[in-house]
Amino acid sequence: MAHVERFAPSPTGPLHLGHAFSALTAWERAKGGQFLLRLEDIDTARSREEYVQAIFDDLHWLGLEWPEPVLRQSTRLPAYRDALKRLHDMGLTYACTCTRRDIAEALGAPQEGVPLGPDGVIYPGTCRGQNRQGAAAIRLDMAKAVTGDITWLEGDTPVTTSREEMIEGIGDVVLARKDIGTSYHLSVVVDDAFQGITHVTRGEDLRDATPIHRLLQDLLGLPAPVYHHHRLIRDENGKRLAKRDDARAIGKYRDEGATPDDIRKMVGL
Ligand code: GLU
Repeated sequence: MAHVERFAPSPTGPLHLGHAFSALTAWERAKGGQFLLRLEDIDTARSREEYVQAIFDDLHWLGLEWPEPVLRQSTRLPAYRDALKRLHDMGLTYACTCTRRDIAEALGAPQEGVPLGPDGVIYPGTCRGQNRQGAAAIRLDMAKAVTGDITWLEGDTPVTTSREEMIEGIGDVVLARKDIGTSYHLSVVVDDAFQGITHVTRGEDLRDATPIHRLLQDLLGLPAPVYHHHRLIRDENGKRLAKRDDARAIGKYRDEGATPDDIRKMVGL
């Protein structure tokens, strides 16, 4: 089977050293196979065309190449809608009208120890089974959706998340927000399959989202890629680079005269 990797940045800011490491890692793992670029621009309020161009420029400068045209998630909304409808028709989704505040109140807004999952606070289930109108979000009914352990491959190693952990440690994740009609989880799963991605390389900050993706793949009858979650690039204080860390933008180093090899060294390649 051909080896197909992707790098899937969101054009919401300049690429920094963490992105460079992620893209170069995927690129190197794709040697002999194919490397694809995908723009995760479903968040139209934060995505900017200037960042799209900067992403192309930075990655080309680093020596990466990919087939054109690049897949943009903003053009894929009908595919996400179809996937959502399938899950709906399977009886696995429900409409949710909760605001962040409603959720905090339902949890009793304790001072400490609110349960956190990959998407933040684990939804307390207020709207489940309520047939809400005017919903702000569509959620996955995790207890209905997951019937057994979820397993994926981290390289050659099988990793398992139990059904109980899916329900209690992840909960009813959002599959679609009303304003954008989809979510990160739903679109990434639909598009990894659409693009024939066999190997997903991404940061270990996304590892906890992987069982959600594997579950959605199983429910939607999509193939399961092999995953590789790589180390994160940290600043001198050991803090991982934030989504927008302009001080470590690739473009900034380039303007200061750094070479692509300097960038490779900086990220430990
Ligand atoms: N678009 C995501 C990000 O920029 C990456 C998604 C993924 O690799 O699955 O963090």
